[in-house]
Amino acid sequence: MPNYVYEAKNAKESCPKCRDGFEIVQKISDAKLTHCPDCGAEIIRVIQPSALMHSKTDLHYRAKRAGFHTLKRVGKGEYEKMY
Ligand SMILES: [Zn+2]
Repeated sequence: MPNYVYEAKNAKESCPKCRDGFEIVQKISDAKLTHCPDCGAEIIRVIQPSALMHSKTDLHYRAKRAGFHTLKRVGKGEYEKMY
């Protein structure tokens, strides 16, 4: 069963759980969640990193999770993003 990631649509109307995003296991046949199970705020489903490895959503999600990203120097003037 796939894991889905949800986060609050509006950070001002959220609890700590949905503000930072949370994962939930759902069946593909299950309806997607529209409200946080804890506080009832509106939430949106975030595309998972594994589904779209190089998407902006992925970078956004990972950076948000990590809080920052660092760069590793891999060559002359070349840097690799490390998460
Ligand atoms: Zn919430």
